[in-house]
Amino acid sequence: MHRNDLPIPEVRNIIVPQYNPDDAYNSLIKKAVELGCRQGVVIRTETIVIARWVQLKCKYGCDEYGKKLTCPPHSPSYEEMKDILREYHTAVLLHGHLSWQMRYSIVEIEKAAFSLGFYKAFGLGAGPCKLCENCVTTSTCIRTAEARPSMEACGIDVYQTVRNHSLKIETLKDKTDEVNIYGLILLE
Ligand code: SF4
Repeated sequence: MHRNDLPIPEVRNIIVPQYNPDDAYNSLIKKAVELGCRQGVVIRTETIVIARWVQLKCKYGCDEYGKKLTCPPHSPSYEEMKDILREYHTAVLLHGHLSWQMRYSIVEIEKAAFSLGFYKAFGLGAGPCKLCENCVTTSTCIRTAEARPSMEACGIDVYQTVRNHSLKIETLKDKTDEVNIYGLILLE
């Protein structure tokens, strides 16, 4: 028989979910709390607010502007982030009190999410990257598995996004005020 005469095998769409979403979200939040986060909330990405003014605060107000590959102008622009957010429906918003702990947690949760089947998982931290003493911005990042841009470095209005979920965040009036730090893991 000529190979073109062979019967075409029946093609079936078999969708095997890799995870039960509720169990997966709960396990990610549980892990975040074990890593030292205060809490985690599953949110829809439509509730993430992005605005052009946010990167102005980096450019005119932050000493790290241009000095880290995770900060503007090296981090995703407002336009890029707007497009990226359209490619996700869900995210986990993490709340903590220490920026180093949040940066570590979002990378660990991103890895855990990927293992659960969220193959597009990507974390966004808080504040400038502190992994290397000197960040060589004329080259590429040397710790790409751990370095992640912060939400604000990508133009996300962290205050409004957090308030959309009735979580606590205030501008600091005094150095002794409790700091509320947030991280985000985009999931799909
Ligand atoms: S890991 Fe090092 S090279 Fe990469 S962004 Fe952070 S400081 Fe720069």
